[in-house]
Amino acid sequence: MKRLSIISALMFNVYFTHTLIAENPKLPTVVIVATGGTIAEKIDPKTGAAIPAVTGEELVANIPELNKIANIEVVNFSNIDSSQMTPEIWAKLSKTVDDILKKPYVKGVVITHGTDTMSEGSYFLDLTLTVNKPVVFTGAMRNASSPYSDGPPNLINAITQVCDPNATNWGVTVTLNQYINSARRVSKMQATNPQTFQSEESGYLGYILKGKVLRMNDVLYRHTLSIPSVLPKIDILSDYAGSDGSLIRASVDNGAKGIVVIGVGEGNVNALMFDAIKYALSKNVTVVISTRVHNGAIAGEYGDAGGGSTLEAAGAILSTTLRAAKARLLLMLLLPTNKSFSEIKQYFSEP
Ligand code: ASP
Repeated sequence: MKRLSIISALMFNVYFTHTLIAENPKLPTVVIVATGGTIAEKIDPKTGAAIPAVTGEELVANIPELNKIANIEVVNFSNIDSSQMTPEIWAKLSKTVDDILKKPYVKGVVITHGTDTMSEGSYFLDLTLTVNKPVVFTGAMRNASSPYSDGPPNLINAITQVCDPNATNWGVTVTLNQYINSARRVSKMQATNPQTFQSEESGYLGYILKGKVLRMNDVLYRHTLSIPSVLPKIDILSDYAGSDGSLIRASVDNGAKGIVVIGVGEGNVNALMFDAIKYALSKNVTVVISTRVHNGAIAGEYGDAGGGSTLEAAGAILSTTLRAAKARLLLMLLLPTNKSFSEIKQYFSEP
């Protein structure tokens, strides 16, 4: 039976279509929400470069075995490279996915998305979705023009994960190349290799093998925050040898409500950056300190001008393990609430 119902609403100049590919009452229903990315890109013959080219239905049509795993519905949310994603688009994506998850017959959702910003986009939804059903982000590192695209196996595995009773209460995950990562922990670690997403010290949540989820870990820290009507401007600025803090001052003067500073080592900056951070704090701009170092927690051990301990004493918040891109989204959702400074600080102190 083929049911085609079109719900079209203009969203970012793309249309919203909702197609049921096939229906088997014995199988669960999984909704694929397509947003774009390499999984849906093909080589433009004029330029030889990858551009958005494949709809959600076409992604599914190329993988007939999906019909043995689940009934598939497709929603074409957008078709953009994820380098073009914004928190505002993720806010609309979160509301769209939440509405889909509220449908009793829906087992869960797979979101196809570019890998460039997948780690933070998945975290935004992990923080804002209200329905506790499986949501799996997946994508590809090799585009749909390649005979070796990793898109089809990744899509099969993502749908398999949604349907697997072993894969519950993980919140939003990022699943590529058989590995399952939590949205909070995952990082893109390799610019071109299909095994790019890693969870490093915290470990993968699981692994998909021969159509089954091997569960290895649980998710320990999850929060649900509402999406404000306006997302505050939060900038990310980096310390580096010789940085003079001028960009921090400019960010404050340009209306930033929060600034995430990428420090060196255990979240340290130089004295001029420290002066600029104190300027930001004096203007009631919330400052969160992260680090460029991939692994490890920061705890504020250094007491020189710009050391982590001095920064914290001056009123900056140390982000224990969340790195800048995710710390920015968490702060973006926390600032509009009426949570106190110490409550906000607590969110960043979780390991
Ligand atoms: N530039 C692409 C994107 O983020 C990379 C990918 O999807 O692998 O959309």
